[in-house]
Amino acid sequence: MSSVVCSIVIPMYNEEEVIEETYRRLKKVMDQSGESYELLFINDGSRDRSAEIIAGLAESDETVRLVDFSRNFGHQIAVTAGMDYAQGQAVVIIDADLQDPPEVIPRMLEKWREGYDVVYGKRIRRQGETAFKKVTAYLYYRFLNLLTNGNIPKDTGDFRLIDRKVCDAMKQLPEKNRFLRGMINWVGFRQAAVEYVRDERWAGETKYPLKKMLKFAADGIFSFTYKPLKLATYIGFILSTSGFLYLLYVLYLRLFTSRTLTGWASIIAVNLVFNGITLVILGIIGEYVGRIYEEVKGRPLYIVRKVIGFKDNEEEN
Ligand code: UDP
Ligand code: MG
Repeated sequence: MSSVVCSIVIPMYNEEEVIEETYRRLKKVMDQSGESYELLFINDGSRDRSAEIIAGLAESDETVRLVDFSRNFGHQIAVTAGMDYAQGQAVVIIDADLQDPPEVIPRMLEKWREGYDVVYGKRIRRQGETAFKKVTAYLYYRFLNLLTNGNIPKDTGDFRLIDRKVCDAMKQLPEKNRFLRGMINWVGFRQAAVEYVRDERWAGETKYPLKKMLKFAADGIFSFTYKPLKLATYIGFILSTSGFLYLLYVLYLRLFTSRTLTGWASIIAVNLVFNGITLVILGIIGEYVGRIYEEVKGRPLYIVRKVIGFKDNEEEN
């Protein structure tokens, strides 16, 4: 059993501009806290000098560890690797760009000492983010809550502390499309929130372009509920009922009055709308089928190129 009390997991992807400052800020906070700790950096296939910088720091600082991926696997996977490699009794997940202030960690540790197993950071305000991101995030979390019956806390990111018990439980969830903030909630245990103001990115730019963000948002929904599949049933039911009623009306006109209905334009319109709905529903089914396919392949979540700073592995490297 290791003697480390607190592991700090820091996923990083092309963060050479901030990573040294992040190291300094974390170091300062953790030294003041008086706990034994490790700083576990996961290099998610950065194409810049992030990994070299951390490897350099590890030479003179034995609290620094590096897990170096063979390529970019994505933020959620990097955090997962962090949980796999962390040795501490408490594991803190924090972004590399200093948007999650390290100074909040002691407050999380305090709650943990009070007996909470998950202490998540709740953003009461976000600084320096676009109105678009704030509005979409606000709406998204409410929509997700509606779909998942309020099981995922609103306005929280991955900035949180989890106890060893939770970390071990998470290792039993091997799913490929990972929405960690929901999964951690799913495993349960005693949860508490710590409120904080989310800062601006210290340097560099976001590593979550719109495309990645949409994929992530889709994971939140499709990995947590199959309600979207029921949409087909509901829409189908409504449409076929109204179609049948309309048919009765048309028959009535034909048999009992002298009026006839004309109009191929309306037929085309109805056709386009209904075909559109069918395709959307096929797409939704496709989302689930694609996810099943990924699970069935059973590939590992990530591939590690090398690790640095872990005592047990020293000879291998
Ligand atoms: N990140 C990562 N792999 C990726 C994208 C991002 O490890 O493919 C890391 C990134 O270095 C940062 C964290 O995930 O530490 C959050 O990313 P970012 O700050 O770019 O996202 P945002 O705060 O803009 O949503
Ligand atoms: Mg950020």
